[in-house]
Amino acid sequence: MSLLYAIFGNPVSHSKSPLMHNLAFKKLGFDGCYNRYRLENGEKLKETFWALGLKGINITVPHKEAAYNACDHLDPFAQKVGAVNTIVEKEGELYGYNTDAPGFLKAIEGFDAKQVLFLGAGGTAQSTSVILRDAGYEVTILNRSAPRLERYKKEGFETYTFETFEPTSSYDLIVNMTSAGLEDESLPAPNALLEALLPSSKACIDVIYGKETPFLKLAKAHGKPTKDGSDMLLYQGIIAFEHFTDHRYTFEEIEGHMRKAFVL
Ligand code: NDP
Repeated sequence: MSLLYAIFGNPVSHSKSPLMHNLAFKKLGFDGCYNRYRLENGEKLKETFWALGLKGINITVPHKEAAYNACDHLDPFAQKVGAVNTIVEKEGELYGYNTDAPGFLKAIEGFDAKQVLFLGAGGTAQSTSVILRDAGYEVTILNRSAPRLERYKKEGFETYTFETFEPTSSYDLIVNMTSAGLEDESLPAPNALLEALLPSSKACIDVIYGKETPFLKLAKAHGKPTKDGSDMLLYQGIIAFEHFTDHRYTFEEIEGHMRKAFVL
């Protein structure tokens, strides 16, 4: 009997995860089937998981904290950052992992960078800032408003709002970690501020995928190498797939098949 998997989120109709995972299942000959499920109430995550008879799930906005709370066991990194985007059932218990952050880390490994500036301080920035710092990067957080910065301050990150930030330092990598540009044409920070920061940067990354955001357009106009969020999405999916299939396949084997979801 096929093992069943799904992505839980709200909204979830746009997700590429079913295509990515089903391609890899099929090509690797693994008897699995991956669907999407729009979950309205995060508190129902656990009962929905059992009711659907699932083996594993990915979790997207807005349920990563609810997923964290639903697990019986947490991988140490997921525990540290308080966010889970992958759950696997083993012998009747739920094991939680965060694969977004290692996915992002892998996506930027080709860039020569030490100083990184994050535009945005939401959930994705939270887990990725921690993994980058653990890997030896120096991460500064710049956010539109102050409340979300509190958590970062407590963890010892340098943090600024647009009002307190002076664009005098230079950053190797500038990353759009906001949702600005996802469904609108807005920049993640005021144009004048970005114009001042971009010349001394080496490259720019956006975690949004599938479109060229205003941020990436501006970076390109400054002649900077850029990357969107597709590799992050791919790599978080590969790492989740490794957990789903109990590390039966190598990263490279999975990548070869999953990457095809991005050309379809
Ligand atoms: P959150 O809702 O947790 O945080 C949103 C952040 O964006 C906040 O810092 C918010 O600032 C800021 N923001 C929103 N709109 C604007 C704007 N118009 N101008 C400036 N700042 C703005 O979001 P997530 O962290 O969950 O997601 C962030 C992005 O990451 C999304 O675009 C999502 O699609 C993407 N993502 C990509 C993945 C991938 O695999 N490629 C994986 C996961 C997420 P404030 O605090 O002031 O409200």
